[in-house]
Amino acid sequence: MLNRLALRASCRGVVGARSLRSFSTAPPAGRSLSSVPVETHIPEVAEPPDVGARHANDYNVRTSSTQPDDELRSMGGYTSSVRHDWTKAEIAEIYNSPFHELMHRAGVVHRMYWNPAEVQQCTLLSIKTGGCTEDCKYCSQSQYNKTFVKPTPTMKVQEVLEAAKRAKEAGSTRFCMGAAWRELGGKKNAFKHILNMVEGVNKEGLEVCATLGMLTAEQAQQLKAAGLTAYNHNLDTSPEHYPKVITTRTYEERLETIANVRDAGLSVCCGGILGLGEKDTDRVGLLHVLSTLPQHPESVPVNALVSVEGTPLGDDEDIDAVDAFDMSRMIATARIVMPRTMVRLSAGRLSFSDAEQYMMFSAGANSIFNGDKLLTADNPAFNEDERLFSKLGFKGKPAHRGPLVSPDELGGNVEITRVEGGGGFEVNSEQQGVKVTHVS
Ligand code: SF4
Repeated sequence: MLNRLALRASCRGVVGARSLRSFSTAPPAGRSLSSVPVETHIPEVAEPPDVGARHANDYNVRTSSTQPDDELRSMGGYTSSVRHDWTKAEIAEIYNSPFHELMHRAGVVHRMYWNPAEVQQCTLLSIKTGGCTEDCKYCSQSQYNKTFVKPTPTMKVQEVLEAAKRAKEAGSTRFCMGAAWRELGGKKNAFKHILNMVEGVNKEGLEVCATLGMLTAEQAQQLKAAGLTAYNHNLDTSPEHYPKVITTRTYEERLETIANVRDAGLSVCCGGILGLGEKDTDRVGLLHVLSTLPQHPESVPVNALVSVEGTPLGDDEDIDAVDAFDMSRMIATARIVMPRTMVRLSAGRLSFSDAEQYMMFSAGANSIFNGDKLLTADNPAFNEDERLFSKLGFKGKPAHRGPLVSPDELGGNVEITRVEGGGGFEVNSEQQGVKVTHVS
């Protein structure tokens, strides 16, 4: 398996699995999910000449003023809203609906909230590869797995900044740095360098993301102050299947890091991997956890396992390969239950044809990773993605700009209804033509 992306990997877990019986999606006791005021360094970026109406870039601004959670959208016979009370049965019903129906519904929901022509391009760089002390059974970088990956030291700041420049030149607007660590922990020197990397990439005008394993609240705030835009920490799979994949870090610990990231005012990137030997109920279970968080992640990466020789899951011949229908079903269900979330078509893309990838974009994916490597996994080269974007009529999303307003919304095709009892409903002045109905 080449890669596995190791995926944006989730990263970095730890020792001593605890029982998942007490698992909860609520924030840990004693902590709120409100943002901690921190200094930010968002660079001034000239407005691109071709932008149409855009939503606010900040998710919290978008949801609290222009796109409240209490609105109901309708179009083409479907309704949609941002809900946090999904039941597993409801999600399973969507996930198991006939494929043609699922794809159609997801496509309509996608167009209610997004401009389907806009797809964000992110570049992921492994700044510290291999030797990870977690035992993720899919990962080429775990020290428990004998794979082709040789541990390497953390990259130098200048090397990372040069890679970020190349990514920007190739059209990427978000740059993510991954380190194969269980946790950032007490790596003071390395953290200092990472903060320098974040500052430098931010100065390039790129959105900056990192995936460094578990974070404390203070570390999350320091990253935010250095200019970090988003933090990736995947849940990988359902709470029930998780102990079969990782035993060195618990599900609760992952949720703790996600809460720290949210509290620091960082954007949350959190998703999973298909092909870990999970059942459909586990895929539904993962989406249930994500969609019932107090705030949906701004980004949900959907990865297809890239089998790597020397890993327990890569060597397991009983695990079926993930196909384009699996990916599309997962992406479509994610799009429907988390309509305002950016769904990222992530690892495994190289194994899918243009037509298969198009199926996934039609299911609601609106972000990809570009560049020829995803951590240790092979990925389509920059020029391949340029060709695909040209073929499909896609354009990239600029950095530090909110997504384009849905053309259907601008055209008055989306009926927006305020749900009784909700508050704070306003329509962005940019959104002329929006049809709004207040329900008494
Ligand atoms: S082994 Fe380490 S690098 Fe690999 S996915 Fe797990 S935490 Fe991430």
